[in-house]
Amino acid sequence: MVVALVVAVVGSIIVIVFALGDPVPRRREFDRLCAVNPGVELREWTHIILHHSATEAGGAATFDRYHRGLGWDRGLGYNFVIGNGTRTGDGEIEVGDRWRRQTRGAHCKAGDMNARAVGICFVGNFETDEGPSEAQLRAGADLVRYLAWRFAIPCGNILGHGEVTGARTQCPGRFFPIERMRAAAREAR
Ligand SMILES: [Zn+2]
Repeated sequence: MVVALVVAVVGSIIVIVFALGDPVPRRREFDRLCAVNPGVELREWTHIILHHSATEAGGAATFDRYHRGLGWDRGLGYNFVIGNGTRTGDGEIEVGDRWRRQTRGAHCKAGDMNARAVGICFVGNFETDEGPSEAQLRAGADLVRYLAWRFAIPCGNILGHGEVTGARTQCPGRFFPIERMRAAAREAR
């Protein structure tokens, strides 16, 4: 009788723990992915700005070349790029050199966001076509959840580029489901 009760109680606790789940499921993987260069201190990131590339294809190397062509010596302006299966894998997360060095980005001048916002670019044009692929959205939500947890970024500070005061752009496009990214940040609490 007592044994049965203990088994029932322990079983219930296990079920509850599994049901609640880990608020940051891929934490260890992201710890590795988001590692910065030796000796580099983390910036105090307060926002996450979401972008689309406004191109059909591309990856970090593509945009790095493009940004260098604009005269940006440090290259790729984004901190992270999430591929769509063209130049890199569908949902593959690439980490930019500016993240490794924790230097300011070059993705959102408005609101001085380059100094304090993590810039994530989803490859694709979500203004003219449709939204990101499911694999991109899952990867993006996981990354946003992790960063929100790691830097205690509130979900209200997860913004589409065009939502930043002073930014005149449609980026990341009308088909980009921004609420899904904010929901991910909320889950990290
Ligand atoms: Zn943008």
